[in-house]
Amino acid sequence: MLKTLKTNHGDISLPTFFPDATRGVVKGGLDTVDLSNTKVEGIVINTLHLRGAIREQFNCHLLMNWTKPIITDSGGFQVMSLIHHHPKLGKLTDNEAIFIDASGQKIIFTPEASIQLQLKLGADILICLDDCTDPESPLSLQEKSVERTINWARRCKIEFDKLTSQKNARPLLFAVVQGGKDRSLRKKCARALVELNFDGYCFGGRPLDGENKFLKSILQFTASLLPNDKPKYAMGVGTPQNIVDCFKMGYNMFDCVIPTREARHKKLYIFNKPLEQIDILNQEFYSSIYLQQSRFRDNLQPISPFCDCLTCQNYSLGYLYHLFKIKDILALRLASIHNLRFYTMLMEKLTR
Ligand SMILES: [Zn+2]
Repeated sequence: MLKTLKTNHGDISLPTFFPDATRGVVKGGLDTVDLSNTKVEGIVINTLHLRGAIREQFNCHLLMNWTKPIITDSGGFQVMSLIHHHPKLGKLTDNEAIFIDASGQKIIFTPEASIQLQLKLGADILICLDDCTDPESPLSLQEKSVERTINWARRCKIEFDKLTSQKNARPLLFAVVQGGKDRSLRKKCARALVELNFDGYCFGGRPLDGENKFLKSILQFTASLLPNDKPKYAMGVGTPQNIVDCFKMGYNMFDCVIPTREARHKKLYIFNKPLEQIDILNQEFYSSIYLQQSRFRDNLQPISPFCDCLTCQNYSLGYLYHLFKIKDILALRLASIHNLRFYTMLMEKLTR
């Protein structure tokens, strides 16, 4: 099993979890020092959202004062969330994705432009632009998406090779497997991408169906199509249990808004026992608490006795309850720090 991934900003131990810093910040008031302290090994930023924030010689590492790896999401997810779901916000052709921004301005996004921007942002891991679909979309749309995704990945690789061939420190380029819930399409997409030989492969599309059920079987099938000597990235996964399930299938990279979004909504994760006593692959290993409940008001204990995060080492549940009650932004930061550390501790446990 792959244990380490070498990048231009240090080695990443696998499996690993990246929080989403979509617009160059992890929501919840955390700065990059907080992120380092929670021991996250990398962050995911969004190419489309950050295209206006950088200048020549001023990439996102410098902008954010972040010295660890940066993964750039190509803009493929916005193809689904904006263009497929809201056709007024853009248009898709075989050549490009066209977005209409809030001011009505047209943004033409080709696979080549996506690679150029990701390199400018300072990415350590670039993702090929893909036509991301919803798993519930009709088969004809999934077929088109796979065709485009393969063609765009080929164009991304040509542009990437052209722009990085002279560089001493070459970043990594990952491709995204689309195909919705259809096995033959996932197979077609994975085979074509593996043939093109990328540095890693991602499971693309929402990992949940229309009823928000985890698409375990298609995730498992897709993992089986990908080479074991390259990283397998389950994009957008997920809950702690979903991550463990995907790890068993062979995935070793994850990103998701869940830990920080749940923290902002007062939901905190806790391990059921000290980590060394948990059989994480076979047991129910965690639960969650909801800080809305007044039973926490007089509680002077930390969120978890098994957590070494800044919040648990210094503050009580009662204080956090109070901060949420008075709606102070410190509540969001302390809760987010705890949940992110829960996720990195989960990774440490899976690494062992
Ligand atoms: Zn904690």
